[in-house]
Amino acid sequence: MTKTVNIFWFRRDLRLDDNVGFYEALKGNHPVLPIFIFDSEILSKLPKDDARITFIHETLQNIRQTLQDNYRSSIAMHYGKPKEVYTQLIKDYNINSVYTNHDYEPYAKERDTEVKSVLAEHNIEFKTYKDQVVFEKNEIVKKDGAPYKVYTPYMRSWKEKFKTLDFKIYKTKAYFKNIFQEINLPNLSLSDIGFETSNQLIPPYEVSSKLIQNYEATRNFPAQNSTSRLGPHLRFGTVSIRKMVKKAITETNEIFLHELIWREFFMQILWHFPHTAKDAFKPKYDRIEWRNNEGEFKAWCEGKTGYPFVDAGMRQLNETGFMHNRVRMLVGSFLCKHLLIDWRWGEAYFAEKLHDYDMSSNIGNWQWVAGSGVDAAPYFRIFNPTSQILKFDKNLEYIKKWVPDFQELTYPQPIVDHKEARERCLKTYKYALN
Ligand SMILES: Cc1cc2nc3c(=O)[nH]c(=O)nc-3n(C[C@H](O)[C@H](O)[C@H](O)COP(=O)(O)OP(=O)(O)OC[C@H]3O[C@@H](n4cnc5c(N)ncnc54)[C@H](O)[C@@H]3O)c2cc1C
Repeated sequence: MTKTVNIFWFRRDLRLDDNVGFYEALKGNHPVLPIFIFDSEILSKLPKDDARITFIHETLQNIRQTLQDNYRSSIAMHYGKPKEVYTQLIKDYNINSVYTNHDYEPYAKERDTEVKSVLAEHNIEFKTYKDQVVFEKNEIVKKDGAPYKVYTPYMRSWKEKFKTLDFKIYKTKAYFKNIFQEINLPNLSLSDIGFETSNQLIPPYEVSSKLIQNYEATRNFPAQNSTSRLGPHLRFGTVSIRKMVKKAITETNEIFLHELIWREFFMQILWHFPHTAKDAFKPKYDRIEWRNNEGEFKAWCEGKTGYPFVDAGMRQLNETGFMHNRVRMLVGSFLCKHLLIDWRWGEAYFAEKLHDYDMSSNIGNWQWVAGSGVDAAPYFRIFNPTSQILKFDKNLEYIKKWVPDFQELTYPQPIVDHKEARERCLKTYKYALN
């Protein structure tokens, strides 16, 4: 006889505790079958040794092990187009409902609409929950219902609303007795999905009291490794945002909390203005005549611009999949302003390389850097790649680590002269914006 189950579909929420959709599923009326789908559409665009896929795969194996060891259960892993995977699951099980968490990116929304309609044909409910943010969609809007386009009033309103929120951690453990009892659910190795183990590691995050309390004083100095490295963990949900917000509040660090709010600010911007995935938020900025010199773009990607702070950032990115925020701002500004290369080229390169790549934050920050986004840096603010060293790496520790050759004869000459590039940028932007 076919078993009746509720499915919980893991996506950007790869953890067993404090997972809203999983919690709601476990509280439901049928045993919960946990599944994950390696989406062939997404995987086909990635390099075979992508560190993010290794990370997802390892995380799922850990979840599987925990479920097998403690709950006589497991997680079923599938590969393919989600719609087709569900068509098969509908044949294998008597599915009552599918539970999952909201995913706000444009592709995810389309995928979920498709899956929902396949399920609806079989009278299966598709139930989704808010999990990856504290406030989503249009929960924080102006009095007249319009979305905030400037961060500071958004942040203030976020904090006001937070005071009235019934904020809780979703403790799933109490409901684990309702998990589907089957140890041998389908598993997949990395090679089954066409991938290999990456030699880049995604390190654990760190949110010790010391780090959070010193955050304000140390976060701007890339040599100090003093930021949390939460990015990929929030991206793939190996940590819950609620626990991190609670931590920021308990340690009373406003600045750290503000960073977590920036993440939600950009998420709601992409949700309200999905066109910003491709177009400038401020349309005039799409009139800029980018130079888009491919040779210069290659030098930027490889960390060979002759500006050691820029090159250090790009080499850190290429070698580790991470770049410090301060340096991200500098390399971004250098690309758009000194080289006059379209921010979309930089955005795409970061999307390929960053372990913490997240569409809304990447686009939001790139448009900030280029000046074209909401609440963006004014176009005439052009970072000087040399004086930035004095401010943020005056002992050259970061530069020496990533560009040990920077004082050697083999190190490239600057690909542009700062003063000339600055003037060219101002002229080009002014022409486009007037
Ligand atoms: C050009 C550019 C591209 C970027 N692309 C991404 C991206 O794809 N994904 C991403 O998560 N962040 C992105 N950022 C924002 C920021 O650089 C990273 O979140 C941060 O460096 C990650 O390191 P951390 O986890 O140690 O951060 P911490 O400094 O410890 O901050 C904690 C968390 O707060 C959030 N946060 C911090 N700063 C920002 C910010 N400016 N915007 C949005 N959220 C923020 C992140 O979730 C971060 O993990 C980008 C910044 C720039 C300038």
